[in-house]
Amino acid sequence: MTEPSAELPLYRKLSAIAGAVYLLWWFAVQAFLPHAFNPIASRLAVVSYFLSTLALSYVSEAVRLRMREILIAGLWILTLHYYYLFHGNAGDLNWVVGAYITIIAINVFLLSEKALLSYSLYVIGLSAVLAYLMPDLRESVFLPGILTIVLQANLGLRSRLALIKSLRESTEQFQMLFNSTFEGVVVHQDGRIVNANDAYLRLTGFSRKELIGKEAFSVLHPEHRETAKERSKEGSVPPYESRVLAKNGEVIDVEIRGKTFEYNRRPARLVTVQDLRDRKSAEKEKVAALALAESVRVRDEFISIASHELKTPISALSLQAQLIDSDLKVTPPSEWPTLLREAMELFDRQLKRLDELIEAMLDVSRISGGFFAIEKRELDLSKVVREIAASLPLIRLGPKSEIALDLPAWAPMQGDARRLEQVVENLLTNAVKYGNGKPIVVRVRQDERETKLEIEDQGLGIAPEFLARIFDRFERAISPRNISGFGLGLYIVKQIVEAHGGTVGVASRLGDGSVFTVRLPRHEKL
Ligand code: ADP
Repeated sequence: MTEPSAELPLYRKLSAIAGAVYLLWWFAVQAFLPHAFNPIASRLAVVSYFLSTLALSYVSEAVRLRMREILIAGLWILTLHYYYLFHGNAGDLNWVVGAYITIIAINVFLLSEKALLSYSLYVIGLSAVLAYLMPDLRESVFLPGILTIVLQANLGLRSRLALIKSLRESTEQFQMLFNSTFEGVVVHQDGRIVNANDAYLRLTGFSRKELIGKEAFSVLHPEHRETAKERSKEGSVPPYESRVLAKNGEVIDVEIRGKTFEYNRRPARLVTVQDLRDRKSAEKEKVAALALAESVRVRDEFISIASHELKTPISALSLQAQLIDSDLKVTPPSEWPTLLREAMELFDRQLKRLDELIEAMLDVSRISGGFFAIEKRELDLSKVVREIAASLPLIRLGPKSEIALDLPAWAPMQGDARRLEQVVENLLTNAVKYGNGKPIVVRVRQDERETKLEIEDQGLGIAPEFLARIFDRFERAISPRNISGFGLGLYIVKQIVEAHGGTVGVASRLGDGSVFTVRLPRHEKL
């Protein structure tokens, strides 16, 4: 059944038409039959019945809901009123014709068999009473005419109802199809929404009543309105992502397609809206699963590298301890001091390596735990570089390279001296480790705003596919079998540099060497 609200405009139109036609008829009678019996009170009553129904439909809910019954009652009263005038005019021929016209016109409005049948019986009854009151009428064609009209109306109604039924069915079928699509569909015309299907209502939580008449783009998130307006000017647009607002204020990710078409013989816009939330959360889950798998891989790799790296100095230490033990047994006590000094140096080196490895692991755990802080003070970066370069040969990591320092005498800046020592040491150690014994250059340059540190080697270089990753945790561009390492040094370097508000990058070609560049702001940003 159609909602009362949907038929309301039709009933209002009918009330207006009935009132206006009656007024017209009033003036026509006045003009052509000036002496006819036509009391003003009854005329006013009929006109005001229809016009006041129309007016009340705007203010009273009760009238709005009973509009149909009130109008049908009005048609009955109108008929009675007409027969009253008919009687007053003594069956004049003009009034006979008028009666026929009135009944035919009213029959057209009655669209159910029950309403038409009861109205027909009512008219026949009234006509019989009139024929009884006015014997002349019985001699005329009045009664057969009325009967013919009533019969014809009742027979004609059947085909009219069939037509209305098939029309209603096709509208219902259309509405059903419109509502049964999984995608939300909205139709807008002249900037206002004129229709929306059930899927759209379910998606947004609005009722059809709330949506119809709304400004078309107001249902989109404000950031997406301009784009949608632009796109709606094109005939048919490929799907694009947007966001709609639900009634409860939720912002929903959707995919929109738009198309211009004819709606009620005027151009309108058909917009389909597909909910992307499921797809988006599936995508997010996939990304999270990949990230998890990656972190498990990195962790496993780290455990294998770490156990290998930590084991090397420990086995070297225990081997040395055994060697010393057996050496002491065969060496005369006079030579013990030399033996012990050499042994101590070796112990010292291996312990230092162990200490570095453990320190690196601690730094990483501080960084990931968020406990990594730097303390900025005035420092001289040239001095930092000079000291590290001088201490480096003691570390003895590989074939010795010549290190050339290209530094200003004094490079003052704000920073954490201990942490920046770590940066220089890590980068320089790498340059030696991966430098193939070729010369290394360390450069420091300063301008007003920043200090630039460059460490250049001519060693192995880095393959392009690794360039982006070597600053990540546990990432290595080289097999652990070739050169030992944790894959933590550059990660720590990056964290320290970024904590200073700076950047670190690398330019490298496989086989040609690498240049690592660190840029640090000279002063605290205000
Ligand atoms: P580690 O040296 O302990 O492996 P780093 O984080 O210091 O860890 O370096 C990560 C990776 O970057 C190294 O394994 C190496 O493959 C590459 N790398 C770093 N510095 C250089 C360099 N100067 N030349 C070539 N490769 C380098």
